[in-house]
Amino acid sequence: MTATTARRVLLASPRGYCAGVDRAVIAVEKALEQYGAPIYVRHEIVHNKYVVQTLEKKGAIFVDETEEVPEGSIVMFSAHGVAPIVHEEAERRRLATIDATCPLVTKVHKEAVRFAQEDYDILLIGHEGHEEVIGTSGEAPDHITVVDGPQDVAGVTVRDESRVVWLSQTTLSVDETMETVDRLKEKFPKLVSPPSDDICYATQNRQIAVKQLGADSDLVIVVGSQNSSNSKRLVEVALGAGARDAHLVDGAGEIDEAWLEGVTTVGVTSGASVPDVLVEEVLEWLAGRGYADVEIVKAAEETITFSLPKELRRDLRAEAARKAAG
Ligand code: SF4
Repeated sequence: MTATTARRVLLASPRGYCAGVDRAVIAVEKALEQYGAPIYVRHEIVHNKYVVQTLEKKGAIFVDETEEVPEGSIVMFSAHGVAPIVHEEAERRRLATIDATCPLVTKVHKEAVRFAQEDYDILLIGHEGHEEVIGTSGEAPDHITVVDGPQDVAGVTVRDESRVVWLSQTTLSVDETMETVDRLKEKFPKLVSPPSDDICYATQNRQIAVKQLGADSDLVIVVGSQNSSNSKRLVEVALGAGARDAHLVDGAGEIDEAWLEGVTTVGVTSGASVPDVLVEEVLEWLAGRGYADVEIVKAAEETITFSLPKELRRDLRAEAARKAAG
């Protein structure tokens, strides 16, 4: 068999949209249908350029801060979650809010509130400055210290070593987080763990899948945007699993032909905020260069779905009832 005929693609499953992203994107689309444009969205609804640009064309306006939203308008909060202070600001400005925070991020917010009420020091493992970390920290700013990886552990101090708990951002590398936790436990032997995983099912499943295909790939292409934490982690996990090379691209247009030199097997996956149409374009691009044989590497079955934000559900129900009555 020649090198050319042996060329193949290993395609990760699961990949792409998670339940939280799916819900957030549908929420913006439904809100546009229900209330009409514009719908203001605080921060990128999900960290993906293509999704943001598609929603902008339909009438969504993305803003950095709530104060940019005209008084009396509708504003949606992104899947990453917001601090309570953002809800207060929206109320002051008489904004109608739709909260598209992923329920799995809300779960971490609730844990933070509960442990703060019990007067724990909370060590939040996550990336300093990431929207989700800012939102979670805002639930209990006096109790939370952000730990941005194992290298940060040496500088962490707490008030009482017998009342310390760790929580985490939902989209981290599982392995690196465990390394950070191990170091924290060495420093604070009484460190309490969260009641259940904070790194979400979607992040974990996508990392397991890329680990499986990374070991057999010369090159791994991860479709996702540079500001997507879970997508960036997939590149790191692929390299850690043994892939010779791995790159994060927004779409097929960003792939460099030179990466294919000497490559027999290409692994392909995508972050939790990436629509599959972008992966299909990458597969087409690869097929055009002799990588037409696609083998699925299945790591898990995903069946989780989340219902739309409650404010939107309420108005959609009322609208349906009006139509039925009229
Ligand atoms: S990556 Fe996980 S936490 Fe983030 S939106 Fe998706 S399901 Fe929710």
